[in-house]
Amino acid sequence: MISGPSGVGKSTICREVVKRLGDQAYLSVSMTTRQKAPTETGGGEYWFVPRDEFERRIAEEKFLEYAEVFGNFYGTPRDKVDQQLAAGKTVILEIDVQGGRQAKAIYPATKMIFILPPSHKELEKRMQDRGREDAASSVSRLNMASSEIAAAWRYYEYMVINSNLEQAINEVIDIIQKENGDQK
Ligand code: 5GP
Repeated sequence: MISGPSGVGKSTICREVVKRLGDQAYLSVSMTTRQKAPTETGGGEYWFVPRDEFERRIAEEKFLEYAEVFGNFYGTPRDKVDQQLAAGKTVILEIDVQGGRQAKAIYPATKMIFILPPSHKELEKRMQDRGREDAASSVSRLNMASSEIAAAWRYYEYMVINSNLEQAINEVIDIIQKENGDQK
């Protein structure tokens, strides 16, 4: 399971890790009630659903975990993850810290990796460069980053600094391979 502040580059890292691990890995696609950003091309980032549909799925216990982040719901569909785990795959969840702790309670063997920015200033810059948020939303995401980092420090098994993308990808792959080896 991989978490990290908005703009840290975790989506890029997750996609690349799954691509390089090939058939061995599966990246879970979350469901969300937030609006699709103009920069999102519909290339499978999320399943975008209305709030009433999300709430119906909560009632039907269709989520392995879900959380309300920045006023919107985000959740991991349970069926796909269970199918992939049953097939022996390494499943990667890209979720926030609250969701990470819920997933850990359900799957205690899960390893939790947190992606850190090299500095607060750099995170601010990456968020601006990404150009997805307005100013108010950036401030709330930066505040959230500080509290997530504090919580991750306590609960996550691995912290990876994304200062060089290629290096961060390789570190995550090394962690996964080491953990998979340890389980055998
Ligand atoms: P964003 O709106 O930037 O795509 O995502 C906002 C936050 O929601 C990020 O911290 C992201 O990791 C988290 N998130 C995305 N999908 C899920 C999910 O399925 N469950 C939970 N708990 N958090 C998620």
